[in-house]
Parts: sequence; C-alpha cells; structure tokens
Amino acid sequence: MIITLEADAAKEDLGRVLELIKNHGLSYKVQEYQGTFHKVIEILLFGDTKSVPLSAFEGLPGVLRVVRVSQKYRLIGRHDDSNSPFVRGFTANGVTISEDDVTLFPGLCAVDNEENVEKMFQALHALGIHQTRMGAYKPRTSPYDFQGLGKDCLEYVFRLADKYDIRLISMEVTAPHHIEEIRSALKETNAKTSVMLQIGTRNTQNFELLKAVGKAHDFPVLFKRGMGITLEESLNAAEYVAAEGNQRIVFCLRGVKTHLGAPHRNLVDFAHIPVVKRGTKLPVCIDPSHSVGSMRVAPDGISDIFHAVGQGIIAGADMVLIDFHPEPEKAMCDGPQALRLEQLPQFIAYVQKVRAAYNECKAIFQS
Ligand code: PEP
Ligand code: MN
Repeated sequence: MIITLEADAAKEDLGRVLELIKNHGLSYKVQEYQGTFHKVIEILLFGDTKSVPLSAFEGLPGVLRVVRVSQKYRLIGRHDDSNSPFVRGFTANGVTISEDDVTLFPGLCAVDNEENVEKMFQALHALGIHQTRMGAYKPRTSPYDFQGLGKDCLEYVFRLADKYDIRLISMEVTAPHHIEEIRSALKETNAKTSVMLQIGTRNTQNFELLKAVGKAHDFPVLFKRGMGITLEESLNAAEYVAAEGNQRIVFCLRGVKTHLGAPHRNLVDFAHIPVVKRGTKLPVCIDPSHSVGSMRVAPDGISDIFHAVGQGIIAGADMVLIDFHPEPEKAMCDGPQALRLEQLPQFIAYVQKVRAAYNECKAIFQS
C-alpha cells in the first residue's frame, strides 16, 4: 500500500497516519522527493496490508491518495490508479526525456582519447544535440580487454562537454565509488554539464550498486534491462533505485542474450516497450547498438541497427542510446557496432521520419 500526502500536509497529518499504521501492526518507510510541481511525501507500507481497508487512511486529514499495490514494484509501477494522471519522464539540466519527443543520446561506447571526445562533441554541437553517452568505466567480458579510462578521463570529458554545450552525459558506473568520482570531477571542473548514471545489463541485479545509485538523488538514472533475466525481474531491480528515493529513472531495452538472436549480438526486445509503459511510469529508452552489435546493411540499403531504431521508435521509445565513433575500426570497445560521425545527419533524419510515422499511427487509434 502507498499513501501519498497532500502537498500542504502538516507534520501532525503525517504523525496521525504513522500512528494508525503502527496500530495496524505494519511497518513503513517515509519517502520524500521532488515531483514535477511540488514536494511529494509518500509512505510505503510493508507487511500484510490486505486486511487494512483503504478507507481507514483515506479519511485522514492531509491524505491525498491511498493505493493498494499489487505489483512488487510499487514506486515505478502504474497500478490501477487511473484517476491520478502522471507525467512520464523528467527534465534534467535542461534535457527533457518524456513522451513528447524522442531524445537522442549518440556518443562513444568508451572514451579512448581526448581527441575523439572532442570530435564527437563537435559533431553533436553542429546538429544541436545536447545529450550524449560516454563510457569511462567499462564492464568487459574478459579481464584482458580495455576496461575504460576510469576517472582519468573525466576532467577532459566534462571540460569539453561545456565547450560544446553538452548538458547530459549517460555514463555507466560499475561500482558505488564511481559515483563519488564523477561527483568530484564535476565539482573540480566546475562543470555546467551533468551526468546520468547508467546501470549496465551486467549489473541489473547488483543490488548494492542499485542502492548506491538510488541514494544519489543528484543524478538521473538510465537503467538497462538485465540480458538474462525476465522483464519482471528487471523491473523489480529498477525499483531498488526508486526505493532509495531516486525517481528519475529511464528504463532501457537493449536486447536479451540467447543464441536464437544470432547473427545479432542479442535478440531485439523492443516489442516490450508498450509492456513497460503499461506497467510503469518510466520513460523507455532503446539501445539498438548493443542489441544488434554490427553495422551490417540490409538489401534495402538500411543497416540492421537503423531498422532496430525504427522498430523501437514506432513502438513508442522516448530515448535512443546509440554508439558512434570517429573511427570505428580503431575503437577500443564495440567498434563493429559504432556508426561513423558522418552518419549522424542520416540518423537524425531517419529518427524524425519514423517518429512522425509513430505520431500518425497513434492518431489512427485515437480517432
Ligand atoms: C553500454 O551501453 O556501454 C553497455 C555496456 O551496454 P549493456 O550494459 O547494455 O551491455
Ligand atoms: Mn558497448
């Protein structure tokens, strides 16, 4: 059960609610976070709440809403609460990720040197894109593969981001201390840019990392679906982040691991976009690069990665995370799936066309 208080609820109102919870022998957690318009106080009830009537709390002063939660992911979930409209998404440092448009995050899978970071940012700036992806901490299958430059590259990544008006950088963290390294580097460079903490597919159920990211309320989160677990398990894992009070989460589909996906790197799972949207309040991102894993071109002249982008956007994706590199053949990580910088205008044009088609498709069903 979740009890949401009115925006102007008094301390005594909260006190009365907690008193009643204790009388019912239930445990609880009070959570405060900044909603789109005002501060929200929610009380999460644990234990056997089935026998407690909603009306017991609904009648109390200062209580806005009481929702019985059937799913385990109570905070990110949408539940059967159709009377309370919500805004899917958020704005972070001037970058909006919502259902109003598709927000593009083209960038380097892994930072390899300063020159390539600058080339990438220059290309984005020329096309008016203020968001990117930049991997500094790379989880790799083999310990002998390039693991990313770690904190050593952060200074120039943030400095160059400011130079080219890049406002939000999706950056994976693989250990809790990476969050502090990023926070310190942003402070030391006095950066205007900001970071979206990325949870990679290999860490989807690294619960201590999820709790640490959940406590880092100053950063929004890009949460990748686990490649070898069910969607339901991944959504429960995303709830760990929300349960620590960090509600600015985007859920990212990136394909699932199965030999049945071959010759693609993973089996594209973008048909799950409507499932995630029906079940949760989260905006949905697609990562066609890690899904497909190669730049092969189909007989129609469109590459498999672009086809996957199209599939995601036509299914309502709100964000696209995609690998680019100035020289994919020299990239230290995932070069075979990286698009060339020269393909950036083509990518944008393609996204715009498919998004327009998506809007037209929606209109068919709304009329
Ligand atoms: C990445 O985006 O760089 C990455 C490693 O992706 P995933 O966690 O989906 O494999
Ligand atoms: Mn990669």
